[in-house]
Amino acid sequence: MTKSIYAIGDCPVCPGSSYAIVLVSENNLVFFCPLCEVAWDKLPLELNGSNVLTLPEVAPNGVSLPDDELLSNSRVRAFVVTDAWCCEEVLKHIT
Ligand SMILES: [Zn+2]
Repeated sequence: MTKSIYAIGDCPVCPGSSYAIVLVSENNLVFFCPLCEVAWDKLPLELNGSNVLTLPEVAPNGVSLPDDELLSNSRVRAFVVTDAWCCEEVLKHIT
């Protein structure tokens, strides 16, 4: 079964160009933009000089795609990403 790739909205770093993708690290939701490769370990996605993180920093043991149950149990409102480039880039980071 192929899992869908979910996003919560535009990436705050590159809005209009890419999405903040929902990923899972050890049962916690983390968020990642495949275009600028910035990652967040919590909401809201804010950027300032001190909290610019990369995916290996927020998920040192790797990430997986969220399943529907985990997403519906969280309070995150996500939608399915259909952009082929974006999906392909995200899948490169899935362990
Ligand atoms: Zn971005």
